[in-house]
Amino acid sequence: QNWRFIVKITLIKGDGIGPEVSGSTRSIIDAALELHSDLKIDWEVFNIVDGQLSEALFKSLETNKVAIKGPITTPIGFGFKSINVFLRQKYNLYANVRPIKKIIPTRYDESIDLVIFRENTEGLYAGIEHVISEDHIVAEKVTTRSASMKIATAAFEHALKLNASKITVVHKANILKQCDGLFLETVRAVAKKYPTVELVEMIVDNTAMQMVMKPSQFGIIVTTNLYGDILSDLAAGLIGGLGLAPSANIGEDMAIFEPVHGSAPDIAGQNLANPTACILSGVLMLEHLGEMKAAQAITQAITAVLDHADTRTKDLGGTLTTSEFTDAVIKRL
Ligand code: NAD
Repeated sequence: QNWRFIVKITLIKGDGIGPEVSGSTRSIIDAALELHSDLKIDWEVFNIVDGQLSEALFKSLETNKVAIKGPITTPIGFGFKSINVFLRQKYNLYANVRPIKKIIPTRYDESIDLVIFRENTEGLYAGIEHVISEDHIVAEKVTTRSASMKIATAAFEHALKLNASKITVVHKANILKQCDGLFLETVRAVAKKYPTVELVEMIVDNTAMQMVMKPSQFGIIVTTNLYGDILSDLAAGLIGGLGLAPSANIGEDMAIFEPVHGSAPDIAGQNLANPTACILSGVLMLEHLGEMKAAQAITQAITAVLDHADTRTKDLGGTLTTSEFTDAVIKRL
């Protein structure tokens, strides 16, 4: 094959179901590019064991600027800090963009097509905890005007691109008057620069209820780190679960694409995971690279395969294994 362009992309396999879903994604992207592009990806593959990050990985990310990442387990209540949060903070990947779109039948008749812009570098994920005594712990929730402005601007620019008429800002400024107050005030200030886009303000607890009751009312949501994390898992639940929810971590000059879900230790290594969330993260990556034809081809192939109840993975009530599902998508391509 005479390839014209070769681009290096970093692939962090992850652990748990990470290697299974990221391996599937790699095969499908390679197949789609072979059919629809002059571009070939030279993958630089990394494993992360016991939370150990290598200089080689940092160099690869800093050179390539684009990566796909499988999920990585974080010990709960002890041990090393989240690698996921570390990478977002180290490279100032300030926007976590999480699109949620209904592609298989759900319990909702209405359409569900929303995207959450989650602030990705601060809030309660700053990871600053103080032990006052063994019976008294304090965690800092960090809010800065600059990070709030960046995520708000990313959301409003997206609204302009889609010609969307409204953005919902989700907060808890009634209780966290200073922290969430600053976030809300900053989003309002950014909104003034976008007069064609209406800003709807909603408190986070009400938002959770509204999402379950009437998800079609939401288009673009902008919110802080923790609320965005929780609401995006909730939103994934509306459309069939975490197996279907992709995401992009976007910074000034680097982007890391990964599924919303974690390492799913309960089904790891059994060829049971649904790779769709990781594959759709790969689609977001192809769009980021301007490879629209390949991105569209994968989206169409996935939609067609998921259209039949018997060609879905187990989480969606089907019988296909991860590798059978991958083969079905490639065949459809
Ligand atoms: P999880 O997302 O791993 O799993 C939640 C449930 O959803 C499980 O029942 C799992 O089997 C199911 N599930 C998730 N992805 C699936 C898929 N692709 N196909 C089929 N079923 C799927 O959440 P958890 O159990 O709370 O977290 C496990 C670990 O993952 C933790 O260590 C957590 O810190 C980590 N985590 C990592 C990331 C990341 O790498 N970005 C994100 C979230 C959680």
